[in-house]
Amino acid sequence: MKIEIATLFPEMCEAVLSESIIGRARKKGLIDISCRNIRDYTTDRHNRVDDTPYGGGMGMVMQAQPIYDCYKAFCDELGTKPHTIYMSPKGKVFDQAKAIELASYENIFIICGHYEGVDQRVLDSIVDEEISIGDYVLTGGELPAIVVADAVSRMCDGVLSDEACYTDESHFNGLLEYPQYTRPEEWNGMHVPEVLLSGHHKKIEEYRHAQSLELTKRLRPDMYEKYITKEK
Ligand code: SAM
Repeated sequence: MKIEIATLFPEMCEAVLSESIIGRARKKGLIDISCRNIRDYTTDRHNRVDDTPYGGGMGMVMQAQPIYDCYKAFCDELGTKPHTIYMSPKGKVFDQAKAIELASYENIFIICGHYEGVDQRVLDSIVDEEISIGDYVLTGGELPAIVVADAVSRMCDGVLSDEACYTDESHFNGLLEYPQYTRPEEWNGMHVPEVLLSGHHKKIEEYRHAQSLELTKRLRPDMYEKYITKEK
């Protein structure tokens, strides 16, 4: 799959997405993520990409033309239209189900806004959906785009060593993950639960499921209710 991030600050995204698991997956060609600088597409002779809002008000608004031309250039290279997302605090809040859904697209184009946001007309013209990473406002869409690119990349074949790495995790099946432990068996007077040392796979599985249920009930009663209702 290919994820293209359209931004005024490509270095910001590159810095994070070149590291660790996602960085290695990109190097191995398991996932294709690129950043495109929206400013490269402006036709303004002073290289401007924003202007003051019509109707007055604070700040600057990103203009339609550079974003549209950036999108068009990507479409022309692909020979098709990508699934297009605008990162926005007005969007639907991102979750694991959305990450799984997005991982099924061949091409995704993510627009990062900045300043007061983006001229509505270009959003109306090219955006398939607006996604928020939470009910708060950030200075730009770069961190949200990185969050989405990371979560989606983890769902792609080969990026994690085993599918179980993500199917066993919090949110995948509607529950939070059980607690994890590693060596040593005793640390600061605290012991690893006995059952995890037993080698008895069925008992370990039952213990972990019970822990998941208990944790979810305590920490996320909203998720627990949903899970229990679905199980009935
Ligand atoms: N004026 C906009 C509003 O009130 O809805 C907020 C603009 S915000 C300062 C600048 C950019 O950051 C937005 O265009 C968007 O791309 C990004 N952004 C900010 N908060 C976000 C969030 N919670 N989720 C996704 N993107 C966000």
